[in-house]
Amino acid sequence: AAESFCDVVRDHARVQGDVIAFTYVGEEISFAELDEGANRAANGLAALGVKPGERVAFLGKNHPLYFEAFLGAARIGAVMTPVNWRLAAPEVAYILDNCQARVVFIGEGFAEVLSGIRADCPLVEQVIGIDATDFTGTDYRIWRDGFSATPPAHRVRAEDDALQLYTSGTTGKPKGAVMTHGSILSSRDATASGEEMRGWQEPIPGDVTLLAMPCFHISGTGTGIGTMVAGTNSIVLPEYDPTKALDLIANFNISKIFLVPAAIQILLNHPRVSETDFSRLKYITYGASPIPLELMREAMRVIGCGFVQMYGMTETSGTIVALDPEDHVPEGSPRMRSVGKPLAGVELKIIDEAGNPVPVGTVGEIATRSSKNMRGYWNNPDATASTIDAEGWLRTGDAGYLDEDGYLYIHDRVKDMIISGGENVYPAEVENALYSHPKVADVAVIGVPDPKWGEAVKACVVVKPGETLTEAELIAHARTLIAGYKCPKTVDFIPALPRNPSGKILRRELRAPYWVGRD
Ligand code: ATP
Ligand code: MG
Repeated sequence: AAESFCDVVRDHARVQGDVIAFTYVGEEISFAELDEGANRAANGLAALGVKPGERVAFLGKNHPLYFEAFLGAARIGAVMTPVNWRLAAPEVAYILDNCQARVVFIGEGFAEVLSGIRADCPLVEQVIGIDATDFTGTDYRIWRDGFSATPPAHRVRAEDDALQLYTSGTTGKPKGAVMTHGSILSSRDATASGEEMRGWQEPIPGDVTLLAMPCFHISGTGTGIGTMVAGTNSIVLPEYDPTKALDLIANFNISKIFLVPAAIQILLNHPRVSETDFSRLKYITYGASPIPLELMREAMRVIGCGFVQMYGMTETSGTIVALDPEDHVPEGSPRMRSVGKPLAGVELKIIDEAGNPVPVGTVGEIATRSSKNMRGYWNNPDATASTIDAEGWLRTGDAGYLDEDGYLYIHDRVKDMIISGGENVYPAEVENALYSHPKVADVAVIGVPDPKWGEAVKACVVVKPGETLTEAELIAHARTLIAGYKCPKTVDFIPALPRNPSGKILRRELRAPYWVGRD
C-alpha cells in the first residue's frame, strides 16, 4: 500500500495522466504535469542542499504550484510549512524563524513583506517566487524547469514528517503541528480498519472540488491533499471570494466545497445567492468553529445541498468527527447540535482534569487517538508532552460530551468555560441563544470578574444595521431559552467582533480589558 501521497500521485500520473488535478484562473494542471513538475522541484531543492527532515516554507495565497512544490519537497523528505499570509510581518517572521526554513516560496504580493523581515530570519537563504510579478528574484517555473524530471531516489515512509502547519493562534501564539505522511494520508485508516468510507468523505472520479479556504489552514491544504489522493480535480481560488464561488458553483459543476461558518454567512448575504443554481452541488462541508443553528437552517433552506459538519484541528490533520447529511434535521432533531460521529479509525474519549474517563453524557475534555494525530509540536517537547500521552491520546483542549449513540457534542474550549456562581457555563450555548434574537448580527460571550459570582457572563453583541436593541430586551430573550445562571448579566454593544482569519472569535481579546492584572 502507498505510504505517502507522493506515491499515490505518481500512480495517478501513470494511470490517468491526462486527468486534471488543479484548475486555477483558467490554467489546468494534469496529474502527469503535476508529477513531472514535482520531480523537477524535488531535484531543484536537493541541488540547493535541502536535506530530509528540513523545513521549506510557502508564504502566499492559494496556488496549485504550492501543492506541486509541497509534493516536490516531500519527495526528498523535506517538510512543507505554509505560512498564514494574513499575519502581520513580525508574526510571519516568528513562524519562518521558528520552522528554520532555508528555502521560502512566495506568492504574488509578498516580496515586500519578505524583504522587510529578512534581517529577522537569518536562516532564509533562497527565495523563489511562484507567479510573483512583484518579485525580481528566482521564478519558480523557470527554476524547476532547469532540473531533471527523473524521480529522486529518496524513499518516503509513512512515519516521516510531511507537513508543518501552525495552529490558528486562537488561544495564544500559533504552535507548529508536525504531521507525518501517514497522518495526512488518512484514507489509509478506513481501509486498514476495514470500515466503509462515508459517502461524502472522499471525492469520486468526476467530482470537482472548490478549494476556497486558505492553504495555511488544515482545511485548505487538507482539501488539496484529499483531491490529489483521490485523483480528482480541485479548482483553486487564491482566496475566498463569494462572487467567484457562486459563479463556479453555478457554471462549473462544483460537487463539493469546504467553508468555515463565517464564509457560509458571507455567501448567504450575497445579493446573487437567490438566483444561483445550486442543484449540482452535492455537499458543503463546514467546520473549524461552531455554527449557529439559525445560520444552518438558513443555509439548508437557501442552498439545499447536503451538509456535513466537521470537527477536528490542526493537531489531528483536520477532520476526525463528522455529522452526516442524514443527521442534518434542523427542526426537532437534537443531533443538529452534535458534531457527529468519529471517522473510521478514530477513537474518542471524554476525560476529567485528572485524565480519567467520565460517564456518557458528562462534559469533560475531548481526547482522541488515531493515525491522524500529529507527531508533536515542532521543537516544543513540553507542549507535546502535555498534549499527547504515552498511549497516544491527544488532548484537544475542547470540552464536550458523548451521547449513548456515540455522537459528540462540543461545548467550547476548556479555557473558555466560564464558572459563574459555581456553575459551568459554555459560551457557545449562550451565544446560540442570543444569536436567535432577530436583531442580533453577531455575538460573543465571555466571563468577566465579578465580586458576587466569581465570574459573570457578559455578552458582546453586534446589532444588525438600522436596528436598536437594549440590554434588558436581550437578557429577557435569553431567559426564555436557557437557564438563568447562563444568561448574560451585562451586555456590551460593539461595532464588530475580533476574529482570526478562519473566522474564529478571539475571545481573549474581548476578555483582556476586564482581566488586566488578574488573568
Ligand atoms: P490555537 O490552537 O492556536 O489556539 P485553534 O485551536 O483555533 O488555534 P485550529 O487547529 O485551526 O486552531 O482549530 C481547531 C479548533 O477549532 C478545535 O480545537 C475546536 O475548538 C474548533 N473547532 C473545529 N471544528 C469545530 C466544529 N465543528 N465546531 C466547533 N468548534 C470547532
Ligand atoms: Mg487549538
